[in-house]
Amino acid sequence: MPMLQNVTILGATGTIGLNTLDVISRHPGRYRVFALTANSRVDELAELCLQHRPRYAVMLDSGAAEKLQQKLKGMETQVLSGLAALEEVAAHPEVHVVMAAIVGAAGLKPAMAAAYAGKRILLANKETLVMAGKLFMQAVEEGGATLLPIDSEHNAIFQVMPPARLSALADGGIRRILLTASGGPFRKSSFAELMAVTPAQALNHPNWVMGPKITIDSATLMNKGLEVIEAHWLFNAPADKIEVVVHPQSVIHSMVEYIDGSVLAQMGNPDMRTPIAYGLGYPERLKAGVNALDLFKVGRLDFEAPDTARFPCLRLAFDALRHGGTAPAILNAANEVAVDAFLNGNIGFQDIPRLIEAVLIAMDIETVTSISQLIEVDALARAHALEWRQLEAC
Ligand code: NDP
Ligand code: MG
Repeated sequence: MPMLQNVTILGATGTIGLNTLDVISRHPGRYRVFALTANSRVDELAELCLQHRPRYAVMLDSGAAEKLQQKLKGMETQVLSGLAALEEVAAHPEVHVVMAAIVGAAGLKPAMAAAYAGKRILLANKETLVMAGKLFMQAVEEGGATLLPIDSEHNAIFQVMPPARLSALADGGIRRILLTASGGPFRKSSFAELMAVTPAQALNHPNWVMGPKITIDSATLMNKGLEVIEAHWLFNAPADKIEVVVHPQSVIHSMVEYIDGSVLAQMGNPDMRTPIAYGLGYPERLKAGVNALDLFKVGRLDFEAPDTARFPCLRLAFDALRHGGTAPAILNAANEVAVDAFLNGNIGFQDIPRLIEAVLIAMDIETVTSISQLIEVDALARAHALEWRQLEAC
């Protein structure tokens, strides 16, 4: 790696994107912002361009890109639009590091482009691994990319695992992966209370500040389900070697249990700048602006088992992983539609798992063959999910 590394941030206007810019700004001699991307929020991206002066700014939406162009008149930043441009700035020969922080299935193709181009990929977009874990891991290998997990749990596991990727967990003397979960805002809510949950209540996460989609996923425990599938691909871990442990303080970010009885945990304040700094600097440690962990203030650490009767999304994700093939891609697409429908007030909180299960039952599960197949499956699952919503509304 050269002294000054060019960084592309996919999803720069999101919470992960902004946290990445915060860490990068603390190390100006080490990182240069090369490209920033967003979907449609022009004012937010324009502001970031004025501050960080990237070579490229990309908006998925072409109308939004035109508006951005107007706002950045006279600046050296080149404005591009569309999916191909997102892939281009992810794979550009001058780029060293790509932060993959687009939300949802939309992040898949740009992340694949970065993998084939052999970049250092800081992967926040877990949906890429859920949809296309096998193909993405193959692309990372073929492209000679370096994959660093940013999701706090996976980053924690990565920090306490043996350094080489294992062909089987047992080769590293590992018995199990213990994936921690905060339990979300409704950890103690009864089934009846869950029926009446509003979007505003679900958007109020007790420990983490995150974008709306992942915040709802955290409330349903689908986020943990997606993370189980993510851990499967990152660490070559079968479903029965991954245990979810509810830990409401979110101080232990995950653990690895070894055959000699040792359990290694990574701890810290719940602040995404820690995993981001780890990914940027690896194997060096960088200052991230994160406060030291005050154990006296934390006081105690609690653990409990997850309740899949109240939170069926976690069970659905485990089932999809065990089925394999296109099942996780179907789960992911149906979940995206369900979360959107819930946020728009069209379905209830407990309809989210019902909708996902209905779509999984309605669709055939196939062997994964290509990205284009997965994109078709994604579209079909969304169509089924929208149909279910309309049937329910009748
Ligand atoms: P946000 O909703 O805050 O940000 C999403 C970003 O993606 C925005 O820049 C948005 O642009 C852009 N975007 C949205 N849709 C599209 C699209 N169709 N095409 C291109 N760009 C798009 O999300 P988060 O930052 O919270 O999360 C990003 C990813 O990181 C998710 O996959 C999430 O699961 C993962 N993650 C997040 C964590 C967190 O703490 N936030 C923790 C662990 C993982 P615009 O602003 O224009 O809409
Ligand atoms: Mg996480």
